[in-house]
Amino acid sequence: MDRVTSSVFRAEGTAVNWVILREGRDLTLIDAGYPGDVDAVLASVAAIGHRPEDLRAVLVTHAHVDHVGALNHLHERYGTPVLMHPDELANATGERHESATPADVARRAWRPSVLRWSLAITRAGGTQHPVVTHARGFEPGVPLDLPGRPVPVHLPGHTSGSAAFVLPEAGIVVTGDALVTGHPLLRGTGPQLLPDFFHHDTAAARHALETLGRVDADVVVPGHGAPWRGDLRAATARLVA
Ligand SMILES: [Zn+2]
Repeated sequence: MDRVTSSVFRAEGTAVNWVILREGRDLTLIDAGYPGDVDAVLASVAAIGHRPEDLRAVLVTHAHVDHVGALNHLHERYGTPVLMHPDELANATGERHESATPADVARRAWRPSVLRWSLAITRAGGTQHPVVTHARGFEPGVPLDLPGRPVPVHLPGHTSGSAAFVLPEAGIVVTGDALVTGHPLLRGTGPQLLPDFFHHDTAAARHALETLGRVDADVVVPGHGAPWRGDLRAATARLVA
């Protein structure tokens, strides 16, 4: 668990991050790990002295299996609502599929480290397709009335309804998989895109970096990899070029 600020925490499950925003006794969770990460999500809430009942909502950057794992558990046990971009709802309900398959990964990126990762995520439920029917859409660009006051920014490409969440006071942007800083399938660290076959629309994912570069933030907390501090506009411009 990283304490990014006194009220923003990054936890890591099976090679995937989620983020907790704290405001008083209330929390916002951003993303929810793999299905096998449910206990780790609950442990991360406990680790900062809170209970799952303190979660006012879960925000979802996108509805891939590694980001939605605990949503149904939290909803069934605690009634925690889920919000995502309206264009992502069809991915959450399973009406639409915009994700790479394990075969895509095996075919395009076979290495021993990738094999280890594949086994780990398979154990964590990576081949499942959790169906989330209780999610609702938020209005992009408008600060959400939730702990941390996150502002959703639509970054289509990785999936149609991918979104980042900007925390203007903290100068932080939570990017999901629109921009990552490390992943078992990537060789280096630092701000970068996931391999092309992970994106529903790679050209759009690249274009979305221009939108991300206009965000007023100097700390990136990504879906995969460590938090990164630096000149976001310059970093995204390098990736677009
Ligand atoms: Zn991911």
